[in-house]
Amino acid sequence: MLAGQPLSEMGLRQPNRLRLRVTGSAEQALRSGHPWLFGESIREQNREGQLGEFAVIYDRNDQFLALGVFDPDSPIRVRILHTGKSLAIDDHWWAARLDRALERRRGLFDDQTTGYRCVHGESDGWPGLVLDRYEETLVLKLYTAAWLPRLAQVVPLLARRLNPARLVFRLSRNIQSVAANLFGRADGQVLHGAPVESPVIFLESGIQFEADVVRGQKTGFFLDQRENRRRIGTLARGRRVLNAFSFSSGFSLYAARGGAHSVTDLDISGHALGAGRRNFELNHRDTHVASSPHEQIQAEAFDWLSRNRRRKFDLIILDPPSLARRESERQAALGAYGRLALSAITHLRPGGLLLACCCSAHVTADEFFGVVRRAAARSGRKFKELETTRHPPDHPARFPEAEYLKAIYLIEQR
Ligand code: SAH
Repeated sequence: MLAGQPLSEMGLRQPNRLRLRVTGSAEQALRSGHPWLFGESIREQNREGQLGEFAVIYDRNDQFLALGVFDPDSPIRVRILHTGKSLAIDDHWWAARLDRALERRRGLFDDQTTGYRCVHGESDGWPGLVLDRYEETLVLKLYTAAWLPRLAQVVPLLARRLNPARLVFRLSRNIQSVAANLFGRADGQVLHGAPVESPVIFLESGIQFEADVVRGQKTGFFLDQRENRRRIGTLARGRRVLNAFSFSSGFSLYAARGGAHSVTDLDISGHALGAGRRNFELNHRDTHVASSPHEQIQAEAFDWLSRNRRRKFDLIILDPPSLARRESERQAALGAYGRLALSAITHLRPGGLLLACCCSAHVTADEFFGVVRRAAARSGRKFKELETTRHPPDHPARFPEAEYLKAIYLIEQR
């Protein structure tokens, strides 16, 4: 195991500090607040850097420019913590940084919503780190190995400030072997408090959901779609609803509670559909949920949509996983988003409503809205655009690469 990095490091001028000089364009990007420094932008480095240590970046006049955490094995070599004037990163600084993120959420959610994001990575000043709350359970997820050496300090800070029943630790796939081999940490481990005995139940807009915080995708639930789910709850009355890529029936439950005529889940994963059934059971006391017929179809969505043309709906939700996971997949993904929207439209009854979502950061909002609008035009039917949406307030996006989520609502005009 590597020695842990203290969370607080005074004395930025210490002689052996990792010091970097960078290209002019990187300097400009950092100055304007961009949180990433790529390895290819480093012009000078005084020595090799260790995983998770602080790196100080100096500008061309040898003035302090920024400070961040170093990762020798990632193309994003430094994730920036602070830009501007030189300062000491001490315990107070970390506590204040956490408080600022928590303060941003104050008043956003009442006691009917106990699942939401508390810390959203770079855009909250915690690069590559996410903290979600599900009732009394916190889930800390790392997307960069650079935090691993500082966990022993980060976890107590979170526990002190938020006092959870437990804190579950999650790791993105690409850093799981480093975490296991160098730090003895495993995905799904409980780092603080009581063990997880069953799926965690929490509330979103008064609806009960389970989150598989130990094994589930993301941190166990797609918290980022809350505002779109709420909107669907207000649009579903009397409609036959198809929830394509339904995961654990999130949109379906809002639609059912909102008085949908019926709801159909379509997902490739039996595990997701199982969670959806349990979520419907959890909410059976709601008379609308209890009386709305709930059907589930386990199938590949593109394939099912093309083979079952006779099935018609009044409201279709398309929330696929990211179809462009890297830049090289962008063009192909645009084509796929367009085909998916057009295919869904052929299942819409007259006057039907389509919600098309995209969660790929490699596709811009304008590109995505463009392909969906063109698909609607190509269908030969007349649609009105109800609205487009972006990130919810607990998932702020403060730089272009962070803007992954976008959605567009179209309703057919009769
Ligand atoms: N709308 C959901 C989140 C969707 S996540 C919510 O509000 O919670 C994407 C879902 O798509 C996952 O459940 C995954 O199992 C499913 N999926 C992925 N590829 C699929 C495919 N080709 N066909 C059908 N479902 C798919």
